[in-house]
Formats: sequence, C-alpha cells, structure tokens
Amino acid sequence: MRGSLILKTGSVLLVLLVLTVGIVAYFFRKSTIESSRETAQIVAKLVENTLTSFMVMGTMDRRDVFLDRIKEIYTIEYVRVIRGEAVIRQFGKGSRNEEPIKDIEKLVLETGKVAERVLESKEKVLYELVIPYRATSTGRVNCMACHKVKEGEVLGAISLAVDLTHKRREGFMTLTVYGGVAGALFLFLFWIIMRHFQPYSKLFQELRILLRSYREGNFRERVNVDLEDEAGDLAKEINTVGETLDRTLSNIREKVSMLIGYSVMETENALKDTEKIVEELAKISHFKRAIEQDLRKDDIYARIETVLSDYMSLDKFSIYEVDERKNAMKVISVQGEKLWCSEIILENADECRAKRTGEDVDSAEFPCICPRFAFNELCSTKGIQYYCIPVNIGGKVGNVVQIVYEKEMDMFIRMIIPYIKGYLQEASPVLESKSLMELLKQQSYVDQLTGLYNRRFLEEIADKISAQIKRRGTMLGVLMIDIDFFKEVNDTYGHDVGDRVLKEIAQVVKSSVREADYVIRFGGEEILVLLMDVKEGMSEEVAEKIRKNVENKAIEFSGGVIKKTVSVGVSEFPKDCEGKIWKCIKFADVALYRAKEEGRNRVVRFTPDMWVGEEY
Ligand code: GH3
Ligand code: MG
Ligand code: MG
Repeated sequence: MRGSLILKTGSVLLVLLVLTVGIVAYFFRKSTIESSRETAQIVAKLVENTLTSFMVMGTMDRRDVFLDRIKEIYTIEYVRVIRGEAVIRQFGKGSRNEEPIKDIEKLVLETGKVAERVLESKEKVLYELVIPYRATSTGRVNCMACHKVKEGEVLGAISLAVDLTHKRREGFMTLTVYGGVAGALFLFLFWIIMRHFQPYSKLFQELRILLRSYREGNFRERVNVDLEDEAGDLAKEINTVGETLDRTLSNIREKVSMLIGYSVMETENALKDTEKIVEELAKISHFKRAIEQDLRKDDIYARIETVLSDYMSLDKFSIYEVDERKNAMKVISVQGEKLWCSEIILENADECRAKRTGEDVDSAEFPCICPRFAFNELCSTKGIQYYCIPVNIGGKVGNVVQIVYEKEMDMFIRMIIPYIKGYLQEASPVLESKSLMELLKQQSYVDQLTGLYNRRFLEEIADKISAQIKRRGTMLGVLMIDIDFFKEVNDTYGHDVGDRVLKEIAQVVKSSVREADYVIRFGGEEILVLLMDVKEGMSEEVAEKIRKNVENKAIEFSGGVIKKTVSVGVSEFPKDCEGKIWKCIKFADVALYRAKEEGRNRVVRFTPDMWVGEEY
C-alpha cells in the first residue's frame, strides 16, 4: 500500500510539475513573440513613415544612413526596404538590394499581405516580419504623384528581423529557476503527504497481519494505535474485539475443562481448541448418557472398546478388571495380541504394576518399566511402548486400561491420553454402581448363614442348567441332602449351635463337590446339590462321599464336639424325569424320604417305583 501510494502521488506530482513548466514555457514563448511583433511593427511603421517623409522632403539620399542607424538598435538583426516590380520598373533595383530576396519577402510582394515567421537554430532565434507598402492616393501622401502604379498595387515591403536569442536564454533561465522552485515545492508537498499517510499505511499493515492471525484463531495479537482519529478508533475497536474473543474462548475452554475434568493440549489456534474441547464435551456427554442406560458392565466395556478403537484409532490395547475377592486380573478385552501381559497377573492382581501402585505406568518415561509386560524384548529393540492407566472405582483400582503403541506414535498417544482418561473418569462411577448392583444381585442369591446359593438362585438358573445339560448331551446329578435329627441339636444346645452345625455341614458338602457344581440351601436343613456333567452312577458315589465326610466331621463348639449324619436322595437328570428338572428335584426328595424311612445316614438312589403318586 505504501509503495503504491508513493508511486501514485509521485507520478501525479511529476505530471503536475511537467505541465506547469510546459505551460509557463508556452506562454513565455508566446508573449516573447508577441512583444517582438510589436517591436517589429513599430520599427516597420517608423521606417515607412520616415522614408515617406524623406521622399516628400526630397532627402531620400539619407535613407541608408537612417536604416543603418535603425540596425544599431541591438535587437534588430536587419531591416531593409525591398522594391516591388513596378518600382523596379520605374526606378531600377536600387543600390542596397544586392541581397537575394527571401521566400517570405517574395510572398509578401506577390500577395501584398503581411508575413512573419520565427527562425530557430542552435545559435540564434530570429523573428522575421515583412510588411508590404501599397500605393494610395488618399492618404497624407499621394503615392501616385511619383509612382506610376495603380491604386492599391504593392510598391515594396519593409523586411526586418528581431533577434530573440537573448530572450531564449532568458526564457531558459526563467524556466530553470521556476522548474527548480516548483520541483522543490512539489518535493516538499510529496514529503508532507507521505508523512501524513505513513501512520495510516503502518496501521493498515499491522491490521492485515492482525486479521490474518485472527483468521488462524490467534486472538492474542493487538495493533499499536498511535492515531487519534477515526482510523485510531477503528483499530481500538478491533483490539477490543480480539480481547473479548480471547477472553470468552479461554473462559469456555476453562469451564469445559472443569466440566470434563481434564484439559486438552492447546495450540495457537484458540478457535480450533475451543471447537475441539466443546466437541469433546459433546462426545463425552453422549458416552455418559449411553453408559448410564447400559444394563450390564459388559456393555460399558464394549463402549470403552469402541472409544479406544474407533474414536482414538488404537489397534493394540487391553482392558482388565480387578477381581477384588480373588485379587486377580480378569481380561475383558485384548486387541492386537492374545495377551500383552504375563499370565501371572491373572492369578495375582498385585503383579500388575498399575493395579498395585494406582499410578500410570509409562514405558516412555522409564524404558520397559513393568517386568510383567510380556513383550519387553520388543520394547527394548523394536520400539514398542505401553501406557497403563489404573481406573479408580470406589477408592480402589477397579480396572486397568493398557495401550500398546509403536514409538513413532508417542506424540499422538500423549495427546490422546487426557481424552481417554476423560472417558474412563466418566465410566468409573457407572462401573462402580453396576458392580455394586451385580454384587447385590449376587448376594440376593446367596444364603447369609451358610454362604450357599439360595432357593431364588435355583429358580433363576434351573431352566438354564437344564438347557445346558440337554445341549451338551450330558447328565446332571441331583442330590437332596437332609441332616438327620437336626431338631435335637437345637433342642439340646440351642439355636446358635444349631446354626453353627448347619454352617459346618454346608461347608463339608461344598468342599466335597467340584467348583462347577451348584450347592443350594433348599430348605431349613436341606441342601440340594446339582452335579454338572456327571457320568452314569457317579451321582451316588458323590452322595456317598458327602455322607461319609459329614459323618466323619467333628464339629467343635464351646460345650464340646458334635458329630451329625445326613441322608441323601439321588436322581439323575434328564433320564429319571423325562427332561423335567423340577421333577428330578422332587424325585431326589422322594428318595431322601426313602432314606429316612430306611434308617437315615444313607444314600438312596431314586427308582420309578418310589413315585406312585399322580403325574408330577
Ligand atoms: P429328621 O430330618 O432326621 O427326620 O429329623 P429332624 O429333626 O432333622 O427333622 P425336622 O425336619 O422335623 O426338623 C428340622 C429342624 O431344623 C426344624 C428346625 O428348627 C431346624 N432348622 C431349620 N432351619 C434351621 C436353621 O436355620 N437354624 C437352626 N438352628 N435350626 C434350623
Ligand atoms: Mg432333618
Ligand atoms: Mg428337614
């Protein structure tokens, strides 16, 4: 802008300078010629009148002296009288007309009209004027008295030239002085204009840079305002807009950061940063709403998986859950490998560094930091890194999210870690409440006294177990166990000892069967055992084992030692009961009564003859 201003103002001023100098030169020349013409006409008139007087007075012989005198006027280059043809005819050529007649003179003699011209050469400038004499009989002098010519005929002409060389010099001098002064004036004017516009051009330049950085989302730039006029006001306004935007956007970011619980990496572009953090807020709020409506923990884990793989584009990660009761890590999800960690952590959760310390484990900070990472040799050679985040659930590490990545992705990973933590932070309370609910549900299936499953649990899973056994084509052993003469215990030692005995016998039963089998407190002192996938005849064997174990168990209490026995009724699903599980339970009970009848402390296998009642 400054360059163009200089160019435009400079050219306008230069054209003005040339124009004024040109106009001055033109008028100077014009007035010079005008005044020369006047001089020449005066001289010509003087010559004409004087010569006429000489003629009348008969002193024509003085003519040459007179003309020579006239020539002495320094501006008169020459003056001469030329005779026309009629005069030459009458009086001859005359003595002083040796010089050849010039074109202009010839023209005047022929036409009888005044002619003039300016002859310019390097050395000289001449103004030539030729004025004709005409014969007249009406003036003060009667030409016809001497000349034998007709009225109006050209007698001759006065030809003279005025030397303008010195005028040209003067002209040049004047123009030089004028041009110099005007040039200086214009330069001064130019300087004033430039000085005036300089702060504006500076302001516009700064504004351009400022608006460019605004466009790129940087609102921290300001312009320096030196001007006190409207342009200054405009600049101040733009500065205020920048300040307001900067303050508002950083307020938004700060508040959203507080809301989502972490701040994102900031760049120079406040607009993009704000857009990003608000977008993040929206995503997290969607995520939160979605997980709150999820039914199970697994659904929440599936969403975390989506966040990691889809939103964050991660292809190697693991999600673990800490089993508080067993102090073991449970694998929820693994991407990119079968298991990124050593299997030891699945048995002892404290082997997991993130779980044990409750702090982030970052292999970029300390190479191959965790000895339980299964690929530490890759970590040291091929640049595989890992970052494990413990997730706090109800004051304890409830989950661990592990991210495995190539060294080149370090910058990206560092950028997304806060986002991932944001999602996990949102998931944490929901996971906690889901865990509590699961625990509650679990507890509602458990009998408080014995720690065995209760009747409600049986109702919940009976159909599922039945379907499982049928699908697998295996067999389910159904044992109905009842403590013999249990009432006596209560009656003899009191209810508390009765409880104690019940609890101990429940434990004996539980430890006599496999982990996969179900031990259920069916009624007061009746225990139902469902033996999963048993072979033919095996149910009776297990029942016998239970019976023996109870028989051999000495139950100690403050008042002494008690030994009790149990009776067991056995049926097998599905063959005993046409695939109806509740029927098999009933038949086991029927067999149990048979055992009681037969003297207790024994195992009785159900046979169809035991059931004579109506259709179950
Ligand atoms: P049998 O089965 O050999 O015929 O004799 P029994 O004495 O065990 O028979 P019964 O079914 O009449 O008595 C069961 C008793 O178990 C009745 C009840 O007071 C007692 N009982 C049931 N549940 C509990 C319990 O939770 N705690 C205690 N202490 N006693 C219980
Ligand atoms: Mg009993
Ligand atoms: Mg009973």
